[in-house]
Amino acid sequence: MFRRSALVLLIVAALLWFVRYRTAQPQPPLVRTALIMGTLVEIRVYDQSGGEAEAAVNAAFAEMRRVEQLFSSAVPGSEVVRLSAATGPLEVDAETARVLKTGLRIAHRSAGAFDMTLGKVKALWGIETDHPRIPSSVELSAALVGVGPDSLQVVGQQVSKARPDLVLELGGIAKGYAVDRAIELLQGKSIRSAAVNAGGDIRLLGNRQGEPWRIGIQHPRREDDVLLTLPLVNRAVVTSGDYERFFERAGVRYHHIFDPATGRPARGCQSVTVIAADAMTADALATAAFVLGPVKGLALLQGEKDVEGLLVAADGRILKTAGLK
Ligand code: ADP
Ligand code: MG
Repeated sequence: MFRRSALVLLIVAALLWFVRYRTAQPQPPLVRTALIMGTLVEIRVYDQSGGEAEAAVNAAFAEMRRVEQLFSSAVPGSEVVRLSAATGPLEVDAETARVLKTGLRIAHRSAGAFDMTLGKVKALWGIETDHPRIPSSVELSAALVGVGPDSLQVVGQQVSKARPDLVLELGGIAKGYAVDRAIELLQGKSIRSAAVNAGGDIRLLGNRQGEPWRIGIQHPRREDDVLLTLPLVNRAVVTSGDYERFFERAGVRYHHIFDPATGRPARGCQSVTVIAADAMTADALATAAFVLGPVKGLALLQGEKDVEGLLVAADGRILKTAGLK
């Protein structure tokens, strides 16, 4: 009698387990969005350990807002505003020094195509304001006096500008850094599978339910077209394009990535996508390669360790680093 009921119990348990196993649906991700740094930021978390994911995501958003406060030129009192106003060497925190050093490394690697001293140029165009306009050549020449990678120096945590009136602009690297910080924060809260997407600056933590994440690279002119889908784990994918922030006059597109040689929108590319270990490096490299144009831009990406990229030239031609072919 006892043995029979034990057997029945065992069979029922096995059946229950089997049914559960067969019908177990993949857990839906927790998806939250917020407006930060003038972009829609989406955080997606897969392994939700008992409601703690929600709190972790909120903390990640808060961390990104903190980075925005540090590096936005529109926030009074930000590190960038303080540096722009400085007339002599300035002590900054370790974090600011690290971002500036990464930016300077890529500025030098790209022969100045990536340039964090274009603050005056950006202000002249007003592309992110309600009143964008085309500056005159005279205005642009004046805004370009003294800019370039050699005009900025970071030694330890001390920042010096070659000219007191140099205005900094970190829009080409800050978003990537914010995405990195968000990922680090999620990781610190024991999240193992997440994606942070800040308007095309993406970083992935772990895999997605045992499979690589699948990241589509958007066609810069056809919104619904995907150029390439990449299976990725623990990587950053950042795209710089001329199709997100721009205005048009007489059929000409004026976008927000400037060639430091002219102070005008760079014309060589429609978009550049960079895949790297961290989003800060990928962000700066994408902006740099965009300015360099398809040929030199490809060479820059090809020369970086652990970096891949895809460039869409102004004429629509597509170029890829060796690892993507
Ligand atoms: P997005 O902001 O769309 O991700 P980018 O990462 O390419 O695009 O950054 C563009 C921003 O970088 C501009 O809004 C400006 O603040 C800044 N910027 C523009 N031209 C340059 C440049 N040549 N080097 C570095 N930063 C730049
Ligand atoms: Mg960038």
